[in-house]
Amino acid sequence: MASLALVTGANRGIGLAIAHALKAAGHDVVAAYRTGPAPEGFHSVLMDVTSTHSVDEAFNFIETQWGIPEIIVANAGITRDGLVMRMPDSDFETVIDANLTGAFRVARRASLGLLKLKRGRLIFVGSVVAATGAAGQVNYAASKSGLVGMARSFAREIGSRGITSNVIAPGFVETDMTSKLDEKRRNEISSSIPLGRFCSAAEIADVVTFIASPEAAYITGAIIPVDGGLGMGH
Ligand code: NDP
Repeated sequence: MASLALVTGANRGIGLAIAHALKAAGHDVVAAYRTGPAPEGFHSVLMDVTSTHSVDEAFNFIETQWGIPEIIVANAGITRDGLVMRMPDSDFETVIDANLTGAFRVARRASLGLLKLKRGRLIFVGSVVAATGAAGQVNYAASKSGLVGMARSFAREIGSRGITSNVIAPGFVETDMTSKLDEKRRNEISSSIPLGRFCSAAEIADVVTFIASPEAAYITGAIIPVDGGLGMGH
């Protein structure tokens, strides 16, 4: 069944792969992007998830142009890695604001439409580090753990209206976010992953597409790991 889908941070990396996969599955896709150019092949809208005004304006525009988005993928995210003793408040707050509060702003505004439709999918892109923690990523891991409690609260609050809310938890994925790792660190990480390799963005996108599908209608409040075994199911 074709639906209108919205993906945040859809101009590159995992978000772009999700937009392509949802389109290939027959959905009408709105690619939300913060910096240009707009990704080609989709409807598109500017959205900075750190601004409530930007999120609300983008939703107003989408609803006027194409209707109420039914599949919402809160994918936009950033890192500001650093050892905890040297991490300034600003690096902690910036990551929480983009990854956690940003996803909240999107899901809150999206829920208005989903409650009218009495169906829908909230899909949050989390991370395996929410469960395992990661040295140098106190801020990032906290933001991704926060998504779990938030997604489960959405699941309880609006589940009775036919709306599911889940977290996809990737491990290490080949994108700009991981391209900064040097060869030695990549090899160390790969050898710690049971499947022995990084994931492609398309492999994350395929799981998101399943969670967006009618076949996943009875899955909610779940964390779906796509991490090559790094988190052993967590
Ligand atoms: P990239 O760094 O490749 O892309 C990040 C995307 O998020 C970009 O489109 C970026 O837009 C967008 N973005 C960042 N800040 C904002 C903002 N304030 N408002 C709107 N969009 C924003 O990352 P990935 O594709 O690798 O990551 C996507 C998601 O997957 C993130 O949530 C990340 O935490 C998560 N993840 C990634 C993993 C990995 O190994 N790569 C592992 C686990 C989770 P712009 O181009 O304008 O900067």
